[in-house]
Amino acid sequence: LLKSLHTSYTGKDYALSKEGIVSPESLDQLSIKSFPICMRSCHEYLRTNHHLKHGGRMQYGLFLKGIGVTLEDSLRFFREEFTKKIDGEQFAKRYEYNIYHNYGKKGSMISYTPYSCLKIIQENAVQDDCRGCPYKTNDASMLKVKLASYGLSAVHVQEVMSYVSKGHYQLACGKYFQIMHDSPVELGVHHPNQYFEESQNVMGNRSTKKVSNTKQLNRNRRVASENIQVMNVDEDDELWNTAESQES
Ligand code: SF4
Repeated sequence: LLKSLHTSYTGKDYALSKEGIVSPESLDQLSIKSFPICMRSCHEYLRTNHHLKHGGRMQYGLFLKGIGVTLEDSLRFFREEFTKKIDGEQFAKRYEYNIYHNYGKKGSMISYTPYSCLKIIQENAVQDDCRGCPYKTNDASMLKVKLASYGLSAVHVQEVMSYVSKGHYQLACGKYFQIMHDSPVELGVHHPNQYFEESQNVMGNRSTKKVSNTKQLNRNRRVASENIQVMNVDEDDELWNTAESQES
């Protein structure tokens, strides 16, 4: 335990959104400012390629759960994208179980935690997938183009890249947040879902959402507390075995 402490994430788990419901229809807009680039990349990859491999689906799917996308909406969102390439029957057979499983509705009935920065940064890049932290997995020229395409000036791109070149990926992410919101993340970026929450707070969106979604939120909390435990995804081999075998 002590040996692995510096590589372990011990903060908030973000397994269940406490802030309200996020609809799939709002994701295009939210991804522009409130998603860190690891999740924005996954969202764009999915919209462009209508597919995510297992690692990307886990990374992005659990993030969506943590920001408040319900199980039903998650199924609908992934089905609508994937069925641009495969039929509905194939989607149901190959991918639905994995989504139910992440929400604690199949298999071990455990609600899985979204990945922390530490876990994502440790992921290796895989060809034709979006998993991993782009500050680490993208080569410098590709990353510069991506940051510029997200609206950063040449000076700002250079500021972010100065952290990247030293391997300080979370500091690079904090600088990106600061540039995008004109406001710093006081305690740094340690989790993509924390990034999302901080962004929504800075933009003043969270309190509005809390009021408009109170009924749905209370219902979700009740269902969650009745049905599921929360567990870190690393701790469950069953998830990986199930998902990997389904993918293959
Ligand atoms: Fe995502 Fe964390 Fe990398 Fe930022 S530092 S892009 S939140 S993994």
